[in-house]
Amino acid sequence: MSSPDTLILGAGPAGMAASFELARAGKRVAVVERASQVGGLAKTLRFERPEGTYLTDIGPHRFFSKNAYLYQLIGNILQEQWKSVPRHTRFFVGGKYYAYPIKLGNVLSQMPKTKILGMLWDYSFERVRSVIRPRPIRTFEDYALSCFGRTLAEFNILNYTEKIWGIPCNQINVDWASQRIAGLSPLATVAAIFFKKRSAKSLVDSFYYPAKGSGLIYETMRAHVEQRGGTVATDTHPVKYICEGNRVVSVDIEGPQGITTVSPSSVVSSVPLMESVRLFGNHAPAEVREAAKNLRFRAQVYLFLTVAREHMAPDNWIYFPNKDIPFGRISEMKNFSTSMCPPGKTSLFIEFFCFEGDEIWTATAERLLALAAEWLERLKLLKREEILSYHHLREPNAYPLYDLTYRQHTATILSWMDRLENFYTIGRPGRFRYTNQDHSLEMGILTARSIIEGKRHNVDTIGDSREYFERGFLPDEQMKTSSR
Ligand SMILES: Cc1cc2nc3c(=O)[nH]c(=O)nc-3n(C[C@H](O)[C@H](O)[C@H](O)COP(=O)(O)OP(=O)(O)OC[C@H]3O[C@@H](n4cnc5c(N)ncnc54)[C@H](O)[C@@H]3O)c2cc1C
Repeated sequence: MSSPDTLILGAGPAGMAASFELARAGKRVAVVERASQVGGLAKTLRFERPEGTYLTDIGPHRFFSKNAYLYQLIGNILQEQWKSVPRHTRFFVGGKYYAYPIKLGNVLSQMPKTKILGMLWDYSFERVRSVIRPRPIRTFEDYALSCFGRTLAEFNILNYTEKIWGIPCNQINVDWASQRIAGLSPLATVAAIFFKKRSAKSLVDSFYYPAKGSGLIYETMRAHVEQRGGTVATDTHPVKYICEGNRVVSVDIEGPQGITTVSPSSVVSSVPLMESVRLFGNHAPAEVREAAKNLRFRAQVYLFLTVAREHMAPDNWIYFPNKDIPFGRISEMKNFSTSMCPPGKTSLFIEFFCFEGDEIWTATAERLLALAAEWLERLKLLKREEILSYHHLREPNAYPLYDLTYRQHTATILSWMDRLENFYTIGRPGRFRYTNQDHSLEMGILTARSIIEGKRHNVDTIGDSREYFERGFLPDEQMKTSSR
């Protein structure tokens, strides 16, 4: 590999957006990706079966953003393959399915009256309390209780959150609330239930989705980068950063052809923050290396089932917050796009939350299938004999774990790393920040602008730097011609 202007490590949304934007500006870029395809957590997997081709995302990847520029950008590169999809999602609690976002009629008809009274009582209590003696908000549990009251919080927030994270809600940082349910104030929620107002971000009624899975965005970006002379090397990863003073002067990279050394002007990394610290070796100060030991990701294990049936349910996905059900969510990819399955068949993507090394992580495919199939039958979603094939996948770095101390550790690491002159750590794993695709894309674009302009922009403002992005970096007409 010859030395590029910019070396990009990781070909997820953040890395691909950075490479796309830099290549568009005429920079020589090289992308290095450990996996065998691009797209990161938002990639789309392909399974060839005798009855045809199945496609699946790693969990459901709807696209939503406050940033109009991103919709234009993706619309321009995907053209008619970028489609609006109606959202239909439910959650299953206490033996009943409820619409999500919550609908008043549905709750009133399904839920025991005592529970409804409990919700109203607890919610009113919290409202009065917030005026007289506000609850101190230190953890995610404090936040959920103060916003919704205990009964509503326990109904569909606290239980699912604990299932995702594997630790009690009073050990989860309140930052999770601001990233996950920001804008979902009590008033917004109540307005949504009673007046069908859908302003908050978690309550949108439709979303955008590429016809052949979310990975199509990143495969198309890859094609654009390669057309402009950039390279994308999969099954390849960095093994060492070589530094002089405050700069990364070269990077050793290992791929199918062995180890090569490249000396780029800048390095953009979206590899997990702890791994980056390791790649710096002793160049990273001792307190940075120590801080990295205290961060961990929540992992996931997945089962993908191909199914001899036209449809399982009307939902894009269904949440299962109750802890007695071993999985957390199932998605039917056909309800995102009919191109995800051969005609007459469907597929299910089943997500289990776990930590690397625990009994779910180490379970065999057959064990997971047995667990899942038992529940799918009990829930009357499908019969075991309808399963045509099963595929077992593992993802170690699914969710950066927002425990009560993660902030201080990431601050220690990032305040050192962000001072390196030509090194940029971005994206969900790179900043240890719970981003969705839109914010990772924004981080990639903003970092590309930092390199092009020779002036470092702060990617931590993404999420509140809406105005900057709504203007876009290129006028619409220029963007259309340059992105085709
Ligand atoms: C189950 C699930 C459902 C989700 N649903 C949605 C959704 O509905 N909507 C949405 O917008 N977002 C969703 N997300 C979030 C979305 O997937 C992420 O926000 C997005 O993929 C983050 O992009 P990224 O580039 O920051 O990181 P990643 O996608 O994690 O990409 C990082 C890349 O770096 C590579 N890498 C790691 N280490 C190395 C190394 N040492 N060398 C080289 N390469 C390396 C990885 O293989 C990966 O390709 C979901 C995530 C999960 C797990």
